[in-house]
Amino acid sequence: MKIGILGAMREEIEPILKLANADKFVQYGKNIYYFGKIADNDVVIAYSKIGKVFSSLTASVMIEKFGIEKLLFSGVAGGLNPNLKIGDLIRASSLCQHDLDISTFGHPFGYVPEGSRFIYSDENLNKIADEVAKDLNVNLFTGIIATGDQFIADKNRKDWIKKHFDADAIEMEGGSVAVVCESLGIPFFVLRAISDSADEVAGFDFDSFLISSAKQSADFIVSMIERIK
Ligand code: SAH
Repeated sequence: MKIGILGAMREEIEPILKLANADKFVQYGKNIYYFGKIADNDVVIAYSKIGKVFSSLTASVMIEKFGIEKLLFSGVAGGLNPNLKIGDLIRASSLCQHDLDISTFGHPFGYVPEGSRFIYSDENLNKIADEVAKDLNVNLFTGIIATGDQFIADKNRKDWIKKHFDADAIEMEGGSVAVVCESLGIPFFVLRAISDSADEVAGFDFDSFLISSAKQSADFIVSMIERIK
């Protein structure tokens, strides 16, 4: 099986590169794609750069040029659900785009014609994640992840996103990667470790917890890939 592992920032994939012995690489479309192995699986690893456009590009290249058969996203996110604390892991049941807005025409936020407001992650990968969490005795939350091209550090915006999408966590890439994978028929999984609470001190928290939270997520993703046959 050939599996893509995607992050947004170098810090998010660095721990995985080491564990996968990924020392071969190819540069394409201003990204670097690393090749390695985890258990019996070939892995293609990359960070896209931040945001929906860059992450869509990188996911598409992984699928169309490098032939990945499943995609797992690893990274950090802001917590919206008060039960989520810094360092906690959440897997996306579904993802949406909170900044997609043609509501002037009577459409709900996050919807455009012929698209879906919410895109659901792969059931088999979610099942593997739940098994890994159980075996490692790790608390894995499941919830809605909202994506947009904004770093949220504001209580009003945070409350607005919670209200309109019932979202539990917020980040800047998952929803766009979900669109790409669903459109191209590739099973996908999105995992995030909380780095901040999307509030007024989110920038400070993010800088303090990026490395430790990114590692939490990366280690979990590697444990999952070890089980994929
Ligand atoms: N400090 C970085 C910018 C980080 S942007 C720099 O200066 O280059 C935040 C990244 O982490 C994005 O990839 C996003 O997916 C995730 N993220 C974490 N907390 C977030 C929040 N509160 N709002 C939006 N994205 C968040």
